[in-house]
Amino acid sequence: MNVHDSERISGLLEQAGYVRAVPTDDTPDIVVFNTCAVRENADNRLYGNLGRLRPVKDKHPGMQIAVGGCLAQKDRGEIVRKAPWVDVVFGTHNIGALPVLLERARHNAAAEVEILESLDVFPSTLPTRRESTYAGWVSISVGCNNTCTFCIVPALRGKEKDRRPGDILSEVRALVDEGVLEVTLLGQNVNSYGVEFGDRYAFGKLLRACGDIDGLERVRFTSPHPKDFTDDVIAAMAETPNVCHSLHMPLQSGSDDVLRAMRRSYRSERYLGIIEKVRAAMPDAAITTDIIVGFPGETEADFQRTLDVVREARFSSAFTFQYSKRPGTPAATMDDQLPKQVVQERYERLVACVEEITWAENKRLVGETVEVLVAVGEGRKDERTGRMSGRARDGRLVHFATETADGESLAGQIRPGDIVHTTITYAAPHHLNADGAPVAHRRTRAGDAAEAGRSPRTPGVLLGLPTIGAPPVAPAPVAGCATH
Ligand code: SF4
Repeated sequence: MNVHDSERISGLLEQAGYVRAVPTDDTPDIVVFNTCAVRENADNRLYGNLGRLRPVKDKHPGMQIAVGGCLAQKDRGEIVRKAPWVDVVFGTHNIGALPVLLERARHNAAAEVEILESLDVFPSTLPTRRESTYAGWVSISVGCNNTCTFCIVPALRGKEKDRRPGDILSEVRALVDEGVLEVTLLGQNVNSYGVEFGDRYAFGKLLRACGDIDGLERVRFTSPHPKDFTDDVIAAMAETPNVCHSLHMPLQSGSDDVLRAMRRSYRSERYLGIIEKVRAAMPDAAITTDIIVGFPGETEADFQRTLDVVREARFSSAFTFQYSKRPGTPAATMDDQLPKQVVQERYERLVACVEEITWAENKRLVGETVEVLVAVGEGRKDERTGRMSGRARDGRLVHFATETADGESLAGQIRPGDIVHTTITYAAPHHLNADGAPVAHRRTRAGDAAEAGRSPRTPGVLLGLPTIGAPPVAPAPVAGCATH
């Protein structure tokens, strides 16, 4: 969601006439921090970064610094009290106001802090500057009606707001028209999508509707919630050819007592039941998850239950986290916070258990031919190894060789966004290698766009400015206006 919002911020600023700084620029005129309060030490890192920028700003009068995102929503005016050289603070509900706030701060030569308590315009309607030519994020809802005790999201993003299906599908079509092959539907809880307009099967219907969009080759989504997961979503995944057989479903804990303390209202049996149904409908499905170890009060027996579920679920990958307090969440003040060394030791055992399983699951793919959507930035060692990288349909990372059987290199012909079929020759716990000649290479419109250096831009629906008492905006240097 943070990346999705950053693309909106870039789009808004470009539409207001700003030009992206290049790395050789001495000093940008504007620096925007889009903060994420879910990450550990987000505040320390923000204030550290702001401290480093202070002397830069002192040397470059007129430079502006803006802070947005979840941490801004949480800390509000505190940010300018701690760092008075910050010019603008904006929250999660008013991203669209950024150009106006920058203008106002410049005009008044004073910091502007504007935080709204709820969303008035869906952020997806803002102009966007997409980073990828081949894949796009499409938000279907924002906010969350759950109250997980470790999570700050509901406090900072508010109650769930669902976007209308027609608007979502229009955005998906607009992306596909620009050459995008893959979309990821985004929501804090995609399974409760439709709660606002009274259709609990809306998400499954949305997946099926994505299946009717010509040129859309891959549909993914994140995140589902085991509490609200319904069988029709499994059927829609299995029966809609462009929906990928990959499911990232957060487990958080395998212990029912810990789930209760986390206020997550499913139990491990239900979680495993969903996985069983997904596997029955899609035997090739790759299931990934998030797990927190060391939640307050977690016992060794609770932790063992998490390991049991991990072994039974056979995840293809898992994001594992050591519990750490997030100020403002109920869990932060719970008794029975565990000592760091206990959490660390359990974490290491969890990682070892997860790796053993993900490695075994990956090894089952050796000898299989997979379809890879070629990506940018997925293979850190590609330059050295002469490989290229991308994601298989099930989401696995694949590094593949580009030499044909007669020794010709296809490296110059295969572009990010193209599709390559290749046969897996080696499996590691976190990736697959395909070191034989590619079986097939298909040039795509996304690849053409990457080659031409074009990234998709969705213009946004320009409805007016979300000014809340803002003065009139100075004329923008380019046609159009920035909105929220
Ligand atoms: S479902 Fe729980 S963890 Fe996820 S965003 Fe909502 S409150 Fe946070």
